[in-house]
Amino acid sequence: MRFSPHICSNIRFAYLQQYAKIMLRNQCNYVKHPATGEPEKDMQMKNELFEEEDSLPEENKKRGFAFYLKKVFKYLFITMMVMAWAAVLLVIFLRRDHAIVKTPVLSAQARSVYEQDPEHFEFYRVYPAVFRSEEGACQLKNCVYAATAGEYEIGLRIAWTQLRYCEQCGRLYTPDQLESQKKYDEEDDPHSCIALGHELVRASETGRTLSYKVFDSKGREYETTNLVTRTKDINLGFFAIKYEFIRLAFGGLYFDLDANIINRESSVDLTGEMTSEDGASDEEDRGMRWYFVIYDAETDDRLFETCIYDNDTVLEDEAYELPDSDYLS
Ligand SMILES: [Zn+2]
Repeated sequence: MRFSPHICSNIRFAYLQQYAKIMLRNQCNYVKHPATGEPEKDMQMKNELFEEEDSLPEENKKRGFAFYLKKVFKYLFITMMVMAWAAVLLVIFLRRDHAIVKTPVLSAQARSVYEQDPEHFEFYRVYPAVFRSEEGACQLKNCVYAATAGEYEIGLRIAWTQLRYCEQCGRLYTPDQLESQKKYDEEDDPHSCIALGHELVRASETGRTLSYKVFDSKGREYETTNLVTRTKDINLGFFAIKYEFIRLAFGGLYFDLDANIINRESSVDLTGEMTSEDGASDEEDRGMRWYFVIYDAETDDRLFETCIYDNDTVLEDEAYELPDSDYLS
């Protein structure tokens, strides 16, 4: 049996691999073919080469089923990982906020005050201490205070798919409220939907609406001056989200900014308590408080309440920019 170099073009890839291995392992000794004068590997090398080749089909047979099963599992695993990552990225993409929730808009009247004298338009970013319900169903975003116009604007994200509705009682609940209902049995709370075993559905499927109010610690209520909303409603069956993104402005709020914590001269006394230079207590320093409340529009049940301003609420100076004209409707 003679070895011809042309055979190389017909043998399988595995053969080539083996050939390359042997070429590297041995110091290749070539001899001239006696008839053609073509360079040829010497016999010792050829024998080794064919021995290796002969062993290949046996090896393949041996690894057969287990080998291919391993390959199938490997590709199945890679496919699943890619799909899981794609799903995670899709959820992050779908859950991201609409830009309007973070864009100060203000009422037409406040904007005209700004346009008359932009240089002297006092505008602050406000950081209420509690800005979300515990489970995040109601969340305040980018609250601002236009001091010159006496307007306070709240960015709000409502996660409707997190709110629950009881068809028997006709009431809306946040996840936090239902969680606290679990602490009581029927005797403690005869109206607890959890204790009574009522069926709760996603509020996003009910078409219910919410109402919003701002009032101060003296009980005065403030007028809504502007409201813009955008809704994201996606239901893929296995995955559903419904978010409402809102900018909500209230007028007639005039805060004493000189008494705000950023302007107040405070010091820490020997007991470690914060006191003002004039010796006033924390409670006195805090002054009047303003509250924001979210209600179920039909039943007037309170779903969420937070203090949006007192003298201890942190403010940050910011420049106001007129919003995109799409947000003015
Ligand atoms: Zn109920």
